[in-house]
Amino acid sequence: MVEKAESIDDVRRIIEDNDIEFIFASFGEVRGKSNAKLVPASQVDDLFSEGVGFAGFAAGEIGQGPHSPDIELVPDPASFRVVPWQPGLAHVIGDARVEGDAWPYCPRHILRQQVERARGLGLDFRIGFEAEFMLVDRDESGRLVIADRQDNWPKPCYDVKGLTRQYDFVTQLSRYVSELGWENYAVDHEDGNGQFECNVTFADALETADRAVFFRYMVETVAQQHGMLATFMPKPFTDNTGNGFHYTMSLWDRETETNLFADPNDSRGLGLSELGYRFAAGILDHARGYAALVAPTVNSYKRLKAGTDAVRTWVPVSMTYGGNNRTQMLRVARQGAIEDRTPDFSGSPYLGFAAALAAGLDGIERRLEIGEPNTANLYEFSPGQLRRQGLGVLPNSLIEAVHYLEKDDVFREAFGKVPTDGPDGSPGGGFEDFVDYYARLKQDEFHAINDVVTAHEVDRYLQFP
Ligand code: GLU
Ligand code: MG
Repeated sequence: MVEKAESIDDVRRIIEDNDIEFIFASFGEVRGKSNAKLVPASQVDDLFSEGVGFAGFAAGEIGQGPHSPDIELVPDPASFRVVPWQPGLAHVIGDARVEGDAWPYCPRHILRQQVERARGLGLDFRIGFEAEFMLVDRDESGRLVIADRQDNWPKPCYDVKGLTRQYDFVTQLSRYVSELGWENYAVDHEDGNGQFECNVTFADALETADRAVFFRYMVETVAQQHGMLATFMPKPFTDNTGNGFHYTMSLWDRETETNLFADPNDSRGLGLSELGYRFAAGILDHARGYAALVAPTVNSYKRLKAGTDAVRTWVPVSMTYGGNNRTQMLRVARQGAIEDRTPDFSGSPYLGFAAALAAGLDGIERRLEIGEPNTANLYEFSPGQLRRQGLGVLPNSLIEAVHYLEKDDVFREAFGKVPTDGPDGSPGGGFEDFVDYYARLKQDEFHAINDVVTAHEVDRYLQFP
């Protein structure tokens, strides 16, 4: 039986029952990095009342300078979990605060705001994730290679031998996921060489985001225990499928606990309700700016390319929806759930989920019409042909996505305002939209990578324009 804490009393009981000696108390910054401190379990009362301090500037991107007061992490009992692979250790996540107040740069706080907005409308946002990752290694020359050197078939998806050679790793992972109570229902060898996916059931958005963070940490740790490196990088190899982080979303009635996206009488035959279609229409309407939040790195856009026979991708290039069709951005493969295939796990799941909910709610508020589902194999069309059919194309680069994000007032509103430094370097000088802060961060990231001259472009341009 998995114990789920709702209060500090539950946490104390779980500590007692499981001989917990230490707690990793963590929070995630804007790029998605997790930061933790090790706290002895004997300090649990202080940890949950006062929190634990971090120098925010050292922790990553969370709107702080070297002069800023500490980030205080106050853990959320609901995220308290016994770490399955390390006896005596528990893990807990919380929101970042500063001087006792919620810190508006904190991605978990931003998601909470959106979740509460939906609750105010009587809706619970539930979401599941499919986090793909690759098990890699470096060869003698330092080159990145697939950890299992025999995993080099052109169509390795579901390959029983590839799964068998990683049996120890995949079964260990599956056992841990079951111990966490996340109802693992399958682990498979995915479409890329060295690529795996471990599926868990969906939950409330905050719970799922916390799970995603812990899941990633767990996969990385278990891989290391098996002498490998697990990567969630969107596109580590040019000629291999990328790593997606698909979201499967639904809105539920808070009172009746029913899925409001399910409609068995849907005239389009996809089992989706009018509310579901409007939510999907909202995501499509905001898709270009949304991409900056769910596909948030330079590398993300090397994944978002149409598949060919030679290089499979299974990712969207155009802003479309369809039934059980993997070339579409939004796939309605089963009743009452919308799968978005755009996201990857190179950023914060809190920000990604918040973006999906904000865009979807906007579609509902504006009663957007989505039109008929697209049934084509969209990989047969070039971007030019897609445009000629009137189908919008997703951004080709991070800088393009950020450009659209800056123009998106729905995201400006949803992500709120953040304090900026005053003229004397002290906090409280003024406010700006979080979106502007985020846009600067991502523009700098784009330039830091894109401005470097690569061997590939030297080969291409050295003698010829
Ligand atoms: N690996 C693909 C991606 O990057 C998805 C494959 C699948 O359909 O699961 O999104
Ligand atoms: Mg997959």
